[in-house]
Amino acid sequence: MSVDDEARAHKVAANQSRFRRANERLERAALSHRFEEADRLPFLCECADPGCFEAVILSIAEYRQVRSHPRRFLLVAGHEEAEAGHEHIVEAENGYAIVEKIGRAGVEVARLHASDTTRP
Ligand SMILES: [Zn+2]
Repeated sequence: MSVDDEARAHKVAANQSRFRRANERLERAALSHRFEEADRLPFLCECADPGCFEAVILSIAEYRQVRSHPRRFLLVAGHEEAEAGHEHIVEAENGYAIVEKIGRAGVEVARLHASDTTRP
């Protein structure tokens, strides 16, 4: 992998992790406001585009399923990275996609996730 690829993988990982943190906060806030696991919320698309603020409607339980994998992200269908190599599509149905980061990007997002979850 070239230096450019490496830098890009890092940038994409950091951006996607930022949206993941926002969604985790949304999930916690909903639960503290007595939402049920089956209730549906608009989760932010966790794609690589820093300007994307589209939402995916998922139940809290469905979102948790995605989130239980440190390398997986929730995306609006079609927002998968055009340049493959950093991720593969796990699921693409119902208007949304779940992708799993692989290679360097996968290591990076798993590391960021671990540091997020240990933060108070
Ligand atoms: Zn998006």
